Parts: sequence; C-alpha cells; structure tokens
Amino acid sequence: MSKEMKIKDLSSWPIKNTTRPLIISGPCSAETEEQVLTTAKGIKAAGIPIFRAGIWKPRTRPNSFEGIGAQGLIWLQKVKAETGLLTATEVANARHVELAVGAGVDILWIGARTTVNPFAVQEIADALRGKDIPILVKNPINPDLELWIGAIERLYAAGLTRIAAIHRGFSTYQKQKYRNDPQWQIPIELKRRLPQVPLFCDPSHITGDRNLLDEIAQKSMDLNYEGLIIESHCKPEEAWSDAKQQLTPQSLQELLANLVLRDPEA
Ligand code: PEP
Ligand code: MN
Repeated sequence: MSKEMKIKDLSSWPIKNTTRPLIISGPCSAETEEQVLTTAKGIKAAGIPIFRAGIWKPRTRPNSFEGIGAQGLIWLQKVKAETGLLTATEVANARHVELAVGAGVDILWIGARTTVNPFAVQEIADALRGKDIPILVKNPINPDLELWIGAIERLYAAGLTRIAAIHRGFSTYQKQKYRNDPQWQIPIELKRRLPQVPLFCDPSHITGDRNLLDEIAQKSMDLNYEGLIIESHCKPEEAWSDAKQQLTPQSLQELLANLVLRDPEA
C-alpha cells in the first residue's frame, strides 16, 4: 500500500502561510492556564503558527505529572481565540480523539509510546474515520521502522490524508550524548519508502537538553526535513515535565534565526 498512498503535503493543512520548515512549538505539558497563555503569546510573537501542549501525558513511570486532562482543552480554545494560533495535542486513545476533536483542536499527534501499540493506533484511526484532521505520527520508542510505517498505514486506511511523521529518536540502554539515539538512517529510510509523507524533527526529545537543540535542528534541515516540533515554556526551568529540554519562545526564535537552510531544489 505504501507506494500508492496519496498523502497530501503541508500546503493542504489549514495554515495561512506555510513556511519551510513548518514550526510547531509550545510546552511539553499544559500546566496552568497562565503558563499556557503566556507561552502561546511568546510563540505568536516569535512568528510560529502552531502551538503544541500535552494534555494527557504518557509518562514512563508512575508518580510523575500525568497531564492536566480535559480541562487543558479549554485553555487551548483560549489560545486559539486570543492569538489565532492553530493548536495541537497528543492523543493516545479514542476518548482523547473524541474530546480533542470536539474541543476544536486543529492538529493531533500520536506519541512514541503509542505508535508501538497497533491496537491503540487502530483505535485512534477508527475514532478519526471520516475526519481528515492533520495528524503527526512520532516514531515508536524502539527502532522499528515497520511499526512507524504501519501506524501511518492504519490512519491512511481510515481515510486520513494529512499525515506527517515526527522523528524523536529511539530509546537506548546505553548512556550517551543524547537522551534518545537519533539513528538518522531510520527516518531516511522512512522518507525513501514514503516520500510523500512530510517529516518533522523533534530535537527536544532527541537531545533531552536545550543546549543541544541547535545541532539536531540543523542536521534535520540539512536532510531536508519539512518541519520542526520543539518544546518551549515561559519558565523552562520550572516545567512540570521535560524541564531540561525546553527553552523560552524568545530563545527558540534565536535558534530558528540561526538555522542555515539550503534550497531543497538545489
Ligand atoms: C511529548 O511530545 O511531550 C512526548 C511525550 O513525546 P514522545 O512521545 O516523543 O516521548
Ligand atoms: Mn515532552
């Protein structure tokens, strides 16, 4: 099926001016209304069109912050009303889909701990049948390209055509420079097998360190990725999840300004 899939490019997403790279940013987690709105205003001021915030957080271990839940959807509605930004959140089951789509969230993503589970992905795909909302699929936490492609195929088979992939690196038992091993050959192979699927890089979850974001973002631009999803927070050090990897919207704006973009046609 992969070769014949008619996935639409990013110009079909409901964004006024699609820039390359397309940037999605906002906090790892929605924490409070004030944190969400303050960060969103910074994202707007940085010229970024899409605001992300996790409402339901799939934490590896219990007793960590597991997300604010459905009340965060009201904050995302306020973001949209006050800034005009498009909003994006993570969904991991049919209930999340129903609530997020019902609340008018514009873009969804499937997290790395969900892409590994074909039952969960199928449930999400079934809940989205007939709703062609843009959806991004993170790579599974384990380096399994077939699971990543399989998740994209399940969504496509349910009638979705605005599907993109996010490269967020792969878990490893070894201590290494990055929190998750990029294993660049895997997204490169994804792009070879599914050239029509737009590819985003997630330097935040690859590096786990705000000081290393720029080198990974640059590498993904050198490989012609279409987009970047980067976590930002109005007070990064105080974040309730992923504090070490978030940066202020202003620092993000500087990082983006320093990226060197080559012409994909060149
Ligand atoms: C996230 O985007 O905050 C997240 C939980 O990411 P991942 O699924 O890549 O771990
Ligand atoms: Mn995160």
